[in-house]
Amino acid sequence: MLTVNFILTRAYLRAEINSSVASMEAEARILVDQMTKSGYFQGNDDAVNNALLDQMAENWNGRIRIVDAGLRIIRDTYSRDEGMYLTADPVLAALRGGYVNHYDAASHTLYFTEPITSLDENASVIGVIVVNIDTTRIEAPIREQQRNAILLMVIFLVLITFASLILLHYTCKPLNTLALSINKASDGSYRKVNVPNYRETQRISDAFNRTLGRLQILDQSRQEFVSNVAHELKTPITSIRVLADSLMGMGEAPVELYQDFMKDISEEIDRESKIIDDLLSLSRLDNNAIPLNIARTNVNEKMELILKRLAPIAKVRNIELLFESFRPVMADIDDVKLTLAVTNLVENAIKYNKDDGWVKVSLNADYQFFYIKVSDSGVGIPEDALEHVFERFYRVDKARSRATGGTGLGLAISRGIVAMHHGEIKVYSKMGEGTTFVVRIPLHYIEED
Ligand code: ADP
Repeated sequence: MLTVNFILTRAYLRAEINSSVASMEAEARILVDQMTKSGYFQGNDDAVNNALLDQMAENWNGRIRIVDAGLRIIRDTYSRDEGMYLTADPVLAALRGGYVNHYDAASHTLYFTEPITSLDENASVIGVIVVNIDTTRIEAPIREQQRNAILLMVIFLVLITFASLILLHYTCKPLNTLALSINKASDGSYRKVNVPNYRETQRISDAFNRTLGRLQILDQSRQEFVSNVAHELKTPITSIRVLADSLMGMGEAPVELYQDFMKDISEEIDRESKIIDDLLSLSRLDNNAIPLNIARTNVNEKMELILKRLAPIAKVRNIELLFESFRPVMADIDDVKLTLAVTNLVENAIKYNKDDGWVKVSLNADYQFFYIKVSDSGVGIPEDALEHVFERFYRVDKARSRATGGTGLGLAISRGIVAMHHGEIKVYSKMGEGTTFVVRIPLHYIEED
């Protein structure tokens, strides 16, 4: 606005000065004509014309000088330079018949020269009228307007600033409320945030509540995990204690009985150490504490080795262990970890099977992934339990799991290992018919940032 104001003021000033010059030139011409007629330039220096010149200079707030063709000043309304010579360029230009005017805004001055012509047919230039004017009076109303406009602008500026501050206060209020609610919620109370004032605050509230919900679930599962760990670790210790107490209370008992009890105690200790081992593996997987030891591996050979190792367990319950390989598969894997993951799946397929059942393991690949499928003819997993089987310590049938030496951590470990390989694990099952686990892993391991 200020720039526009300055540009407009300049333009107005120019226009005002131009129109003033035009009207002054016209007035001057009339007077000069009259002076020519009265023979002023022939030496008839009459008082009326002089008075008119003075009057005009006074009106214009300036100085008028009349210069004759010989460049001599014959009349100066300031009565200072009469008889002197004026050889300035604008005078010479006017003597050649030209009109010159110049306005200097910085010094508030304007001058113009105008040729005075003879009244005969030749219309020859017989002199020049030189006018110098102080333009402050012409500029005054425009400058006044400019000042008013600036004042108005300042008033507007102050008002707008105040209005903006008030508006800002009210606009930011919901944001402050939001920040406060988030602060309150982050003290662990999981209180939901709701600031529906703006669409944006509503969206932030919703997103925050979703995150909060997830955090709450995480927190709950952490607490659950801790109490599960405590419980799981306590169970073998309780058994050991009961066994030891009974041993002590037996007094004189046959050695075989002692040996039996000691065997049970030893089994419970094995269980305890298995739980601790599994927990350690899991926590290392979670923290990425052990790096993947990726190497190009013949997966077919690996699978055959795993099944060979598990064959004796299957044989005990007369379970048929079948391996089907559709093509040779070479992949970038961590041999030890993937062996653990697949062993868990096949072990489960044997554990949760019926006597004389079967376990089928197949290996296939396309150009991007290889697939390991472990199917069994076992008890199956209820539909509502399918989404939980990968959770730590989750067991469909606690008694059966414990009886078979399960810790409830096997599938969680398998899933962790598959995820480390950037793969996926899925489970399909039908109660009473059997279960299928499908593992999909990329053939080429790509390091993530
Ligand atoms: P566990 O040590 O108890 O076997 P897992 O994590 O390996 O723990 O498995 C979790 C639970 O999922 C098991 O307790 C079992 O109830 C169920 N499960 C796993 N694999 C099978 C399977 N092949 N058939 C039926 N149930 C299974």
